[in-house]
This record gives sequence, structure tokens and C-alpha cells, in this order.
Amino acid sequence: RAYEILTGQVGYPAEDIIFDPNIFAVATGIEEHANYAVDFIEATRWIRQNLPHCHVSGGVSNVSFSFRGNEPVREAIHTVFLYHAIQAGMDMGIVNAGQLGVYDDIPADLRETVEDVVLNRSPEAADRLVGLAESVKGKAREAVEDLAWRELPVAQRLAHALVKGITTYIVEDTEAARLALGHPVKVIEGPLMDGMNHVGDLFGAGKMFLPQVVKSARVMKQAVAYLVPFIEAEKTAETKAKGKILMATVKGDVHDIGKNIVGVVLGCNAYEVIDLGVMVPADKILNAARETGADIIGLSGLITPSLEEMSHLAAEMQRLGFTVPLLIGGATTSLAHTAVKIAPNYAGPVVYVKDASRAVGVCTQLLSEGLRDDYVAKIKAEYAQVRERHLAQKQESRKVSLAEARANAFKTDWTAYVPPRPQCLGTQVLRDYSLAELAEYIDWTPFFQAWELHGRYPRILDDATVGEEARKLFADAQAMLKRMIDEQWIEARAVFGLFPANRVEDDIALYADETRAAPLMTWHNLRQQMAKPLSGNNAQPNWCLADFVAPAGVQDYVGAFVVTAGIHEDEKAKAFEAAHDDYSAILFKALCDRLAEAFAERLHQRVRTEFWGYAADEALGNDQLIEEAYRGIRPAPGYPACPEHSEKGALFELLDVPGQIGVQLTETYAMWPAASVSGFYLAHPDARYFAVAKIDRDQVADYARRKGWDVATAERWLAPNLGYSA
Ligand code: SAH
Repeated sequence: RAYEILTGQVGYPAEDIIFDPNIFAVATGIEEHANYAVDFIEATRWIRQNLPHCHVSGGVSNVSFSFRGNEPVREAIHTVFLYHAIQAGMDMGIVNAGQLGVYDDIPADLRETVEDVVLNRSPEAADRLVGLAESVKGKAREAVEDLAWRELPVAQRLAHALVKGITTYIVEDTEAARLALGHPVKVIEGPLMDGMNHVGDLFGAGKMFLPQVVKSARVMKQAVAYLVPFIEAEKTAETKAKGKILMATVKGDVHDIGKNIVGVVLGCNAYEVIDLGVMVPADKILNAARETGADIIGLSGLITPSLEEMSHLAAEMQRLGFTVPLLIGGATTSLAHTAVKIAPNYAGPVVYVKDASRAVGVCTQLLSEGLRDDYVAKIKAEYAQVRERHLAQKQESRKVSLAEARANAFKTDWTAYVPPRPQCLGTQVLRDYSLAELAEYIDWTPFFQAWELHGRYPRILDDATVGEEARKLFADAQAMLKRMIDEQWIEARAVFGLFPANRVEDDIALYADETRAAPLMTWHNLRQQMAKPLSGNNAQPNWCLADFVAPAGVQDYVGAFVVTAGIHEDEKAKAFEAAHDDYSAILFKALCDRLAEAFAERLHQRVRTEFWGYAADEALGNDQLIEEAYRGIRPAPGYPACPEHSEKGALFELLDVPGQIGVQLTETYAMWPAASVSGFYLAHPDARYFAVAKIDRDQVADYARRKGWDVATAERWLAPNLGYSA
């Protein structure tokens, strides 16, 4: 119809018409998809035979989408597909031209199988290709690796290796450069720094992404590691760094993926980075800063108690007469917190660094004589504004009394709803859990976020800007994940328990058995205190997790769990670091985190379907699990519905977590190993996540009473949630 309208009515030249029939993925495991490539080829043939002079185009990479991550197989599929589609009349297409092979060069067994898949010649073809794909992975690419750059002069070879992140020839080339330049330091200050500066520029311009930069840094480190013995032998002066940056994850906190990435990026930009690691007390950080003459101190933290620790450290810097800039970064930190709670404690510059890509810009400006004063003045003015805005907002937000909030609690008719009784009460331990099983439950989107590649998986793999890097990173991740599983790099363990439980005020008592005598533990909870519409369409309760559990007299139940995928994580990560391979160290830690989250997802599923069993018939795919399309929640202490971290203390005692699975708590209740997840299970059909947000003095006093604390202690632990100035 379009052709007739265009040529007949519109008078459009037929030779300017391009048809673009859909190409969909084959070998997806779904029978209906098996003929999609044939459909395109036949549609093309029909169009070219029946609609004279027009053209046919196609977006080719879709066809092999089910093999993403395996470039050699995709390449073979594209090559075979095009071979047949072109014969049928396809005369345009969108495809990565650098990734096309030659039909005749594809190994016979692979080509035969790919052809069976593309032409839908055999129902088992897809399975056979999946089997073949494993062995083909990586091979074809290597075979066609373009080695023309090996002919370039040595400085350009080093630059190429740095930009492309290739370590294969780095020792050989570094040695050649050392001989040519006559001095090891000249190699670092010359071609290596030039190459890294180029990497820095490309990153700054958005033409390279974090995973590539971290790979470049690996090349740099290995080159420098090779040169160091020569430098030491000649006892020459140190190379000139742009500045010394001292970094640490604060006391009580264990998270360091983001900090390590920042360290690598700064290292790439010629800063000397001194990394004190995790769980570092303030006095140790400040002593090290004095001893090393650090030009900047950078702090990192993941959990909310770290925010307090950072404010404390800023005050210590003031007391001890420091003047160097203080950088703040990490998941719970924010511009507002830095401006309101940290900056006022210290007269020197305090700067919030939102992500790794900003670190270089911030350090450059802070350490440049020409730029520093203006930059600091600008930051101070900006933070003063943030403080003002913050104060204004604080006055606006009206709170109700704890009594009023309780009167507006979420209510269940406990005569109409019978809480399901768990199939198995008490505690269970799972050791050496199948990593292959957990890998199926990974949510990949946060994995890409950790590398500052933003977008949802799997769409991110085809993103116009970051897609190519996302695919490479994903391929590296798949390869490492496979080795982690095959060679058992880590062990996954879990301990969980299901207990009789009842609500007591805003708390939840967990009991050993159905006599429900003295509680084994009390899970203390907080209630929202913001003013809410009490009636009408947007009426909302003042949520508190305790409201999802029945009061005494009704037999209700609650679960608790801790999972880890971090047993042996630390040793393995340190081995990579010792081999100057930060890329693999960071990749590995990010994968351990993913497996821990996947374990939390999988165990929750098994609890719903087996151990508690209230949703025995549930059948959800991984996407639906990630979207939390199931009944029940697993609130995690430290998250918005139960933001107070010290509740993990009782949870860990209840399940004897250190004894059973070897996961420990730090003094501020971070879990160690870092790749661990903990929480509670609630089964109420209306149970949901929410944010407690700011609370008032009356609730803080009441919470202190229930916890057996004085008010000052409660205010310290609840600092991020105080709706008033303590
Ligand atoms: N698919 C994600 C899942 C983790 S985040 C990943 O792989 O990283 C979701 C989890 O965070 C929830 O299951 C719950 O344990 C916790 N959580 C989220 N919002 C919460 C809230 N408001 N209160 C308490 N816990 C919350």
C-alpha cells in the first residue's frame, strides 16, 4: 500500500523508497522466533520481485541478540544472514562493519550450525549453536586481531596500548622505550604520561568510559611496576606527581568499589594516590595525612553512620589545624549533607564529589594556584545557598505528634485475615550454595551503574553511546563469572529463620516457639511523622513496618536472613591488586556484590515458595523478581523503611551469624565481608517499602526508651532522620 501511494499518488521516485522490514532475534529458545531470519529474507525477496526499483534495508544485529556477549558467534550469524539476505535482494543494512567476517572463512562446523539456525533448517540447531558457542567464545576475535599497530614507533605503541587497554606487549614495549630513552623515569614522564593524559582527555570528553579507563590504568601500572626496579637501582628522585591524594573508607564502613575507581582515575591523571583501605579511624587518616604530606584528603562511605563519622573527621581537621581540602564521596553522601553537616565543621575547602568522573576536575582546580581561590569561593557560596534552602525546607515540612501518627496507622482487620504459618519454623543454614544457580538471579542494571554506565539492562547493551563499552564490560563480567563458578573462587552462605512474632507498640517481638513467652529478640521500628491527608483520595497512613504484623492474640510470623557471597572475596581481590590489576579487582568485587544480591533474591523466593510456603504456586521470571512483583517484602536495616543500622546487632545475635556463616558487623554495623545482604521477611499482602523520613523529639525519646538508650545516643544513631537540630 505504501509503495502504491508513494509512486501512484505522491509521485515519489520508486528508486528513493527504502523498505526496512523488521529483523527479530532467532535462537531465543522460543519456537515462534525460529523463523524470523527466514521471514526477513522471504519478505525481502517478495519486495524486490513485486515492487520495482525500491531498496531493502535491515538492522542486522537484532538477529543475533540472544548471543550478546559472544562476539565471534554474533559475527558468524551476521555474516551468514547477510550472505543469504543479500542474495534475496537486501541492498542496505545497519551493521558493525568492523565486525563482519567472510562467509567462506567461517569454520565449517560453525557455519553449518549457524546456517541451520538462520535458515531454520533443524529444530535442534539453536541448542547445538549454544553448545558450540561456549567453545567459540573469544577465539574468532583473537584470530582477526589487527596487529598493524605493532609496526608503529615505540611511543605510539605505548599510547595505543594505554588507550586500548592492551597489556599483552606492555613489558616488551616498556623495555624498548627504556632502552631508547636511556632512563626509566623518562619513560614514565614521557610516553606513558602522554598516553595517560590522552586517556584522561578522552574520558573528560565523554569519548571513553570508566571500564576503559580502569583497563588503561592496568596497563600503566604494569609498565610502572616493570620500571620501578630500574628506578630504585639508579636511586633517582621520585617522579613528579601533580599532587598527593590520601583516600580512605571511614571507620565502621567496608565499601570500597567507588573509592577504588576514583583512585584509579586519579592515578591515571598523574596524581599520587595513597589508599588507606577500609574501616579507617579518623586519627589514623589524619596521622597518615601529616606523615605523607597529603595535598587532599578524600573520604568514602556507604552506610549512613559514616555520615556522622565524616562530620567528626572534619571537626578533627579543624581542631588539629589542618588546611588541606577534604573531599566527600560514596553512596549515602550528598551535596546537602556535605554542605549542611560537614562543611560547617571545617574552615578548609570541603567538596562533595558526585562520581568518579568528576574527581579529576575537582582535584585539578583545588591544586592549581591559578584556579584554586575562585573555585573554593564558588563552592563556599554554593554550599551556603544549599544550607539556606535546606533550612527553609525544614521549616516547611510539618510533622504530627507520635500519638497522632499512631492514630493514623495502617490497619488490618485481623478477624478477616489469617497470617500464613511457615512450613519450617526456626533457623537454617545453607553453605556452599550453588553459584551457578545464583548467577541466574543477577540483576545486571546495578552492575553497570557501579561502572557509571547508566541505563537498564539489557537495553544498555545496545545503547548508542555506551552500548559498545557496556557489551565489552558485560563480556568480561561473563567470563570472570564463569571462572568464579567453575573454579569456586568464593563461597556463598546463608542463615535464615522464621519465627512466631507479634507487634508490640511500634516494635515486633520474635519468639522461639508458639508459647510466645519471652521474646528472642525485639525488632524496633520507626513510624512516619509527616503530616498526611487523613481523608479523601490521597489519604495515606503514617506507615510503620510493625503495622504489617498482628498484635498479641493472633498467630503471626516474621523472618530474618543474612546472605553472603563474600567468603574468600578479600583474599582474591588482594591478589588481583598485588598483580597491578585493579580492573579485575573491581570487576570481581562488583560481581561478588551482584551474587550477594542475587542470593537475597533467590532465598526470598525459596522462603515464599518453600520454607514459609505462603506462595507455593508463585512462578515469576527474573525480571518480575527484580520488579518485586511478589507478595511480601524483605526490608533491610539501614534502608528507608527501617533506617537505623544498629538493629542489625540483634538480628545477627538472633541467627548467630558470625558463628554460622562467618559474617561480622563493624562498630557502625556495616557487614563484613562487604558482599553480604541482611534483612527481615514480612508476608502481609499489603506490606510495602516506604521512607520513614524525618521524625520528631517525641518519637526519638520513645525509641530511646524502647532501646534502653539515653536520648543523646538515640540522636546519634538516628542523626540522618532527625527532623530538628539536636
Ligand atoms: N535487584 C536489586 C535488589 C536490591 S535493592 C539488586 O540486585 O541490587 C532492593 C532491596 O533493598 C529490597 O529487597 C530491600 O531489601 C531493600 N529495600 C529497598 N527499599 C527499602 C526500604 N524503603 N526499606 C527497607 N528496605 C528497602
